[in-house]
Amino acid sequence: MVHKFTVATHSRTELIDITAQIQRLVTENNVQSGICQIFIPHTTAGITINENADPSVVHDILMEINKVIPFNDNYHHLEGNSAAHIKSSLFGPSLSVIIENGQLLLGTWQGIYFCEFDGPRHRKVWVKIIEDK
Ligand code: ZN
Repeated sequence: MVHKFTVATHSRTELIDITAQIQRLVTENNVQSGICQIFIPHTTAGITINENADPSVVHDILMEINKVIPFNDNYHHLEGNSAAHIKSSLFGPSLSVIIENGQLLLGTWQGIYFCEFDGPRHRKVWVKIIEDK
């Protein structure tokens, strides 16, 4: 079974903490131990894990990624969102997190972020939970 939920983004580029939504799926399915695979089915979005204590970290990540990959740079792709496609490939479409004692096994300062690079839009997140038996 694949669990699906949507994320509403509000800016052209934005990192949204989805840790709570993922943990809720783990809790609702009563999974004590296993692996949680998270997949983003989009070519202009991605996923990453980074600090969720100081919001300045997310601000700085976006500020720098938008400098390194500018929105306009004589790209060939006619849709006009090449920067978003490039950022999507840099961050990647998926990650997996260990589940132990019913909790996502993350570092103290880590959160799971949906990465919007061509918003605002409504986006999909797919989650597969593989339980240890
Ligand atoms: Zn495109």
